[in-house]
Amino acid sequence: MSTSGAAMDPMTVAIGVPGPVDPTAGVVHAASNLPGWHEVPLRRLLESKLGCRCLVEHDATLAAIGEQRRGAGRGVANFAYITVSTGIGAGFIIHNRVYRGGTGAAGEFGHVVVAPDGPLCNCGNRGCLDAVASGLAIAREAGASSAVEVAIAAAAGDQLARAVLDAAARHLGLALGGLINLLNLEMIAVGGGVFGAGANFRDGMVSAVTQGSFERVRRQCPIERAQLGNDQGLVGAFELVMTPEKRAR
Ligand SMILES: [Zn+2]
Repeated sequence: MSTSGAAMDPMTVAIGVPGPVDPTAGVVHAASNLPGWHEVPLRRLLESKLGCRCLVEHDATLAAIGEQRRGAGRGVANFAYITVSTGIGAGFIIHNRVYRGGTGAAGEFGHVVVAPDGPLCNCGNRGCLDAVASGLAIAREAGASSAVEVAIAAAAGDQLARAVLDAAARHLGLALGGLINLLNLEMIAVGGGVFGAGANFRDGMVSAVTQGSFERVRRQCPIERAQLGNDQGLVGAFELVMTPEKRAR
């Protein structure tokens, strides 16, 4: 992105990575959905190619920044953005500051184990949320090519498709309930295609959130639809570059 006003002469580039990164060192630790990416010094590689300062962030963190500054979470000090798409991830804003954890690896919500005897996850563990409720998992369990296909089949009355979506919604809702209890958040914004899998999916998820959280904290934490769509990362990257003082962990 250009901060100089000259589109072909960027002063700073910010890039979102779908996996754990250390934003301070600019290193991608290991992205389970990017085979072969282990301890990749992405910032150094990019800066040597582009000749300008580069910032490397977890993609869900960029989306969380975008949604909290200019989307569903405007004015919310304790906020989480959850993406439920091909994979599942999260970005956190705590006390109006981006929360990245000790080494920048916070936000791997998709790898919370919710079904210890469940399917093998691509991270190597078994029964991660990603392995039972992501778009890839939903398609695999239903024998379909995509979660959208499963949602269409469920809406048409297909019992297997309906059961797969119900199970995914329940696992997702229970995990969200745990997150609400753990962090006493003031809003969760959910984005990604799977959240749009129909009213039954949303109802099942909300019911499981209710089952998995304390009413007192749940009442203070609305679950909203994310507002920025595919622009989340772009808006987050812009905000990250333009307000660098808020990068401090
Ligand atoms: Zn996993």
